Amino acid sequence: MRTKLVVGNWKMNNTIREAAAAVDSFIKIVDAKADVDVAICPSYLAIPRVRELLKNTHIKVGAQDVFWEEKGAFTGQVSTSMLFDAGVSFCIVGHSETRGRFGKVAVDPSLIGYFSETDATVNKKIECLLYYSITPILCVGETADEREAGKTDAIISAQLDGALKGLDAAELYGLVVAYEPVWAIGTGQTCDAVEAERVCGYIRSLLTTRLGADEADTIRILYGGSVKASNSRELFHQPNIDGGLVGGASLDPEEFRKIVMSA
Ligand code: PEP
Repeated sequence: MRTKLVVGNWKMNNTIREAAAAVDSFIKIVDAKADVDVAICPSYLAIPRVRELLKNTHIKVGAQDVFWEEKGAFTGQVSTSMLFDAGVSFCIVGHSETRGRFGKVAVDPSLIGYFSETDATVNKKIECLLYYSITPILCVGETADEREAGKTDAIISAQLDGALKGLDAAELYGLVVAYEPVWAIGTGQTCDAVEAERVCGYIRSLLTTRLGADEADTIRILYGGSVKASNSRELFHQPNIDGGLVGGASLDPEEFRKIVMSA
C-alpha cells in the first residue's frame, strides 16, 4: 500500500518572511492529516527557515534542484551535501522548467541552453541524491507538440531510460516519479484523470520491466500540472496516481490545505 504524497513546488516565489507566514497558516491542519505525506519545496534561501518551522511536524522540506558535483567553481549552484546539511528530504529533478521546456510562455530557443538540463544530467543528479539518501522526485512529461504528434509514451520512456540509466532496484528504492505534461504546467489546462491514470500506469509498467514488479509497486507516481482543490480528489484516487506535485496552487495556503485533505 503506497502512502499518498503531496508536494508543493513554490518555484521562484516567497521571500523568507512570506514563506514563514505561508507555512504558519497551514502547518496545524496539514500536520494533523498524518495519513498523507507532505513536502514543501521553497527557494534555497527559505529552506532553513521552513525546515525550522516544520521541525516537529511530519511535513518535510524539499529542494527544487541540485547540482551533482560535490564542490568547486560552479557559480550559483548548490550541492547535494549542502541540501543534506540543510535537512532536505526530497529534491525535484528534471522539472520541465529546468529542462528548459516551457509550456506556458514562449521562450526564445537560444535561452533554452541556459537551463540545459538533459536526461544525462538528471541521471547524475539522481545518483548523487541517492548517495545522500535524499529522495529524488523525477519529473517526466511531454510538450503539447509531442502529444499532438502521438509521441507521449515514447518521450516518457526515453526520459525514464536516460534518468535511471545504470541505477538498479536497490539503489532506486523510495524514488518518486512525477508525470508532468508540460502543456498542463501553470496553464490551468489539467490532464483529465483518465488520461493521467493511463500515462501513470504506463510509467509503472516501464518501471516494472526495469526494476521488477515488487519494486515498481512501491514507487510513488505523482501527477503534476494545474492541480487544484477542484480536481485533486479525482486525480489522486486513480489506482496509479499516488498524489501530486503542485505548483501555483501550493502558494495559496488554504487551497494547498484542501488539496492535501483530498488525498
Ligand atoms: C509544477 O511546477 O510542477 C506544476 C505542476 O505547476 P502548476 O501546478 O502550477 O501547474
